[in-house]
Parts: sequence; C-alpha cells; structure tokens
Amino acid sequence: MKTIGIIGGMSWESSLMYYQQLNLAVKHAKGGLHSAKINLVSVDFAEIERLQHQGDWQALAEKMLAAGLSVQASGADFLLIATNTMHKVAEDVEQALSIPLLHIADATASELLKDGVKRVGLLGTQFTMQQDFYKGRLQQRGLEVLVPDDVGMALVHNIIYQELCQGKVLNSSRDVYLQEMEKLKAAGAEAIILGCTEIGLLVQQSHTAIRLYDTTAIHVSAASQFALAD
Ligand code: GLU
Repeated sequence: MKTIGIIGGMSWESSLMYYQQLNLAVKHAKGGLHSAKINLVSVDFAEIERLQHQGDWQALAEKMLAAGLSVQASGADFLLIATNTMHKVAEDVEQALSIPLLHIADATASELLKDGVKRVGLLGTQFTMQQDFYKGRLQQRGLEVLVPDDVGMALVHNIIYQELCQGKVLNSSRDVYLQEMEKLKAAGAEAIILGCTEIGLLVQQSHTAIRLYDTTAIHVSAASQFALAD
C-alpha cells in the first residue's frame, strides 16, 4: 500500500473528512485493523485565506511548494492538495516534486465523463468558479461548466469562508445552496459539482434530487484506489 501525502488544513474541517474517509476506504478494501498510510502537512488557514483575498498567489505558491516538499521528504508516494481552490498553484507544486500529484479537478472530470454528464454546474469559492485553473481544466476535458450569477457566487463564496471553514452548518445557508443548484439546473446543468471540500458538510445527496459530485469524496476515492493499486 502506498503512503498518501496530503497538504491539508484548508480548512481543517475538510481535512478531517479526508482523514476519516481515506481510512474508511482502506478498512473497507482490506478489512480488519487495516488503515490508510497518511503523511499530512497541515497549514494555518488564516494565513492562506489572507493571501488569497490579497491576491498574493506567488506567496501562496511558495507556501504550497514548501508544504509539498515537506510531504515528499516525509516519504509519501504521491500528493493530494486537500482543497479545490489551492489547485490554482498545483502546477508550481507538481513541477518541483518528483512524486505525482493527484489533481482534484481531473478526478472529478473523470467521474462526470464516466457517468455521461456533459453540462455541469459548479459551486465553490469565487476563485474556483471564476478562474480557468479549475473551470478551464474541466472544459478541456469536454465538459460545459455553468456557474451562478455574481450575486449567487458571492453568497456561495461567503458561506464557505464565514461558516463552513469555521465549522458552522446553517439550514438557511443550505437553502441558499439548494436555490443556486435549482437555478443551475434550470439553466441546463445535468449535475452539480460540490467544488469546495467543505460543501459536503452542508449539502448531501439526500437534500436534493439533482445529482451531486462531491469533490472531497471523489478525491478520496481516487487516492485510495491509487494507494491500494499494486
Ligand atoms: N476548501 C475549499 C476548497 O475546496 C476552500 C478553502 C480554500 O480556499 O482552500 O476550495
């Protein structure tokens, strides 16, 4: 079994899910006392969030690179960046490391394409919904990507930082998300990507008939399969 390297803490609320779900996947596959081999480097999210909103992606790339090198030096066989947004600097990290990076958008695109989805709604931070590092990567795989209007985007974004990344799960915010999903469906989306690793805390498949693709669960599944493959 390979050792899974993770850069986490963005936020730790979702890193907790990665840790639990990776261990459950290995336990499910191997049984008994088996658990996942995980080397986690966890950052202080307050520093990350400040730099994101200042637009200092150079400093963020340097922080991710330092964390990635530390994960690599720890002996991990491959790397996960346990957030969608910070994949904005994934290429900088990937190029400097000798271990492979398992990209969250690639894993998500593969699931959508496997299920025959062509037009998909994307919810996440404004960085993820607006910028090409994520949306463009899905489009390159042939997917049509729909996002909320400016007001909807701001609502979705603020709930992530002001609530979900701080462990607050509010019914009123779930309603906001469900309304945005309905709008995307009305615009033609066949499914919705939960493109932020904390959204699964707020919205689960049981809340809606629209098909959901939770990036945390997809990333975990791809990582556990890769770790368990010979
Ligand atoms: N975890 C979130 C994501 O998947 C947002 C936090 C961050 O900005 O990294 O995008």
